[in-house]
Amino acid sequence: MYLKKSKTIVIKIGSTILIDEKRTVRKKWLAEFAKDIKDLLDQKKNIILVSSGAIALGCKKLNLNKKNLKIDKSQAIASVGQIELMNLFNKIFSSKKINLSQILLTLEDTEQRRRAINAKRTFENLFELGFIPVVNENDSIATTEIKYGDNDRLASRVAQISGADCLVLLSDVDGLYTQNPKLFKNSKLIKEIKNIDTNIEKIATKSISEHGTGGMKTKIEAAKICQLSGCMMVIANGLLERPIKKIIDKNKCTWFLPKVSKLDARKKWIISSVSPKGELIIDDGAINALKKGKSLLAAGIKKVEGKFNKGDHIKILDKNFKEYARGLSSFSSEEINKIQGQHSNKIYELLGYISKSEVVHKDDMVEI
Ligand code: GLU
Repeated sequence: MYLKKSKTIVIKIGSTILIDEKRTVRKKWLAEFAKDIKDLLDQKKNIILVSSGAIALGCKKLNLNKKNLKIDKSQAIASVGQIELMNLFNKIFSSKKINLSQILLTLEDTEQRRRAINAKRTFENLFELGFIPVVNENDSIATTEIKYGDNDRLASRVAQISGADCLVLLSDVDGLYTQNPKLFKNSKLIKEIKNIDTNIEKIATKSISEHGTGGMKTKIEAAKICQLSGCMMVIANGLLERPIKKIIDKNKCTWFLPKVSKLDARKKWIISSVSPKGELIIDDGAINALKKGKSLLAAGIKKVEGKFNKGDHIKILDKNFKEYARGLSSFSSEEINKIQGQHSNKIYELLGYISKSEVVHKDDMVEI
């Protein structure tokens, strides 16, 4: 079962799941959902929640109608509602001894590699600390031109940058049907989709039972991002009690299978577009280690060229300055200048603080 095999799981909750048509917050549902999360944590999984509801809860608090809101007004409303949203989550989850943190992202944070890598580190550190990040778009800052607007695509980017194995989109339908199940009795739930072809796109456009911000269309867009990031994605019914347990037990949902492996996708992302900021010249011993699939350690570095920060894209050259690989540096050029040629157990002494031992991790490196 896909969910069982996943280590890092992103779960997106839409506002229609959290708040009913009468604008009542579905607290009981959220408390049950927290049990699902507790189960996943007990299985040592890393969880990220992406939750909508800032604008809906802001409107509720201010007694305003969500429809026809001007963008600047909705930005202020989101600022009021986001705190309501987090209070709600915190109250319910802390009663189950689940620690939460908050991350508000803008489109740029996920599209720019430097910021995305930084966000990835923050996620990893939160997992280590035993906290679940609750992510939403930074609606109070993002304007129309620089906005996702829907949390489906935001969630898929979060899944991509966090290196998640699976994205769960909790929707108000079971998944994607061959035809609208409310109108056609013989319509069938599509269990697995490998290829998003024109037929699937057509079905998604016609699907009218989903009435979240994005509808089925943005879920398909999210699926495309996941497929190219090596991440599984599932659309499942979030209106049910214990929705995650239901996916595991009943599997009445639509799965989108990835097209590439997670590692290949990440490596491709590493070497695409942005030009390298610096170079590391390494000795033969290090080249041999890299050939065996090992990470680059400080001991094998002979020289650093250029000025770069932690997380920057760099070239790795052999002693004859021939390019061997590209990768993301886990240290700044300044730091590498201090630790080059040294054994990893000296890093703490040389820098004065604890850090990673690999200068370029094997998963962050691509041979040329
Ligand atoms: N970020 C918006 C909110 O929290 C919702 C976006 C969506 O519904 O997908 O209100």
